[in-house]
Parts: sequence; structure tokens; C-alpha cells
Amino acid sequence: MWRWFKDWRRQRLLRRAALPDNLWRRALVHPKELFAGLDERERRRLRELATIFLARKEFYGAHGFQVTPFMRVAIAAQACVPILNLGLECYAGWTSMVIYRDSFVAPREETDEDGIVHSGQEVLAGESWAGGPVVLSWADCAPGAYPHGPAGNVIIHEFAHKLDMASGTVNGTPPLPRGMDGAEWDAVMDRAYQRLRANLDNGIKPSLDPYAGQDPGEFFAVCSEYFFMAPAHLRRILPEVYRQLALYYRRDPAGFRAFPRPGRGPDRS
Ligand SMILES: [Zn+2]
Repeated sequence: MWRWFKDWRRQRLLRRAALPDNLWRRALVHPKELFAGLDERERRRLRELATIFLARKEFYGAHGFQVTPFMRVAIAAQACVPILNLGLECYAGWTSMVIYRDSFVAPREETDEDGIVHSGQEVLAGESWAGGPVVLSWADCAPGAYPHGPAGNVIIHEFAHKLDMASGTVNGTPPLPRGMDGAEWDAVMDRAYQRLRANLDNGIKPSLDPYAGQDPGEFFAVCSEYFFMAPAHLRRILPEVYRQLALYYRRDPAGFRAFPRPGRGPDRS
């Protein structure tokens, strides 16, 4: 009975909040790398997820910035790609999206080894707050913007942090679905992260954005960007990491076909 009621409510919401065809088509043009591999069924599911995402989240323009219907749909479409086979429940527990016109300045405080707190500022393209909003600079995620290179995607990056945060800490390990081997995930991700750190320390130019070497949370977020934007490249340079991400996201964007067909994720509601 409850399941029937949930389905009925979902169908009613999808009808009432249906996204206009022209906006949806425009939203799926850029970045083409992100949407290219999706078949018809996946595109339909993505549209449903984006519709419900927009019904649940509230968008605010920072400092009077006007967030247009296209921006909302474009952001929702990209934000829902990582959870295509995981479900929207992964983004539960917060509602606000704050959109800046351009990169924004955020205050930062760091405590050093001697316990001294250093205050400063950082210019950001995006930010995710635990239990709070996702903050994005439209200039850095608008069509054609690749502020961190062609494999980068600010929206995927910030939403990967949101997935990671669902475990309670930002440590590069989101809650893994049933059936995944947590020990194997830890070993693979840590080995790859430590190798990257060692290369950076030795001045060896990495084959992915060096920002991944910041900490394990950034490693997961940057690898997630590559997984969706440049999957063949990630599979070539870090095949074990690619495999873990394919198991986690229940997707195989590089078309490796070595993974089980994505099934329905465990119920998290
Ligand atoms: Zn980050």
C-alpha cells in the first residue's frame, strides 16, 4: 500500500512539475561528454530525477544574481548524472542551492601544528556544506566553461562531496552499496592516492588534476569528475580506481563491459 502511494505521488509530481522539452534538450547539449553515453532509457530516468530534484531543492541567486529556468535545469541534469543508478535519497538532508554569477571568495581558517589559527580567503568555483547548501559559480559551470580542463566538472565535483558527506565525514568514502567490498575500496583508493602524493612530492606531473592530491576527499571528487567526463582516460591511468567507481556509481561510462549491469540500488529512504 505504502509503495503504491509513493509511486502515485511520484507520478503526480512528475506530471505537475514536468520540465519543458526545449529547456531539457538545451540542458543536455553541454557538456556533451557527460550525456553522450546515455541511452534512451537512461535519459528518461535522468529527466525524472532532475524533475524531482528541482521540486525538492530551492535555488537562490547570490547578491541579486538572477537564476534562470535554464540554469536550474542545466544544474539539475548534471547533478543527477552521478545518482542515475543510486537514487535521489543520496541527496537528502539539505535543500538549498546558492548560485553566484562568478567565482566567489570564501573565508578560510586553518589551524597549524602549533595550534595557531590562520585566517584567509579562497576564491572558489564551488563549495559543498555538510548538511547545508551546494554553492556554485555559474561562470564556472555554464556551457563551455572548463575552468579545470576538459575532464573537469564543478557540478560533479561538488555533488561527489555531497555523496561523500553522507557517511558523516569527507574522507573520500561515501556509504558503499550492499555487495561492495569496503576493504577493497579502501585499499585501492588509498594506494592510488598515496602514489599520486608521492609523485607530486617528487615533482612528477600527474595524469590528472593535481588538486586530487589535496586529501582523500578531493581525490574522490576529482576522480568522479574524470569518471563521468573522461572515463576512458581514467580507466587507462587508474584502472583499479575506475573499477571501484564503476561499482559504486553502478555505471560503466567507458563501456568496459566488465561490470554487472546496473541494478536497482538498495533502498535508502
Ligand atoms: Zn573539492
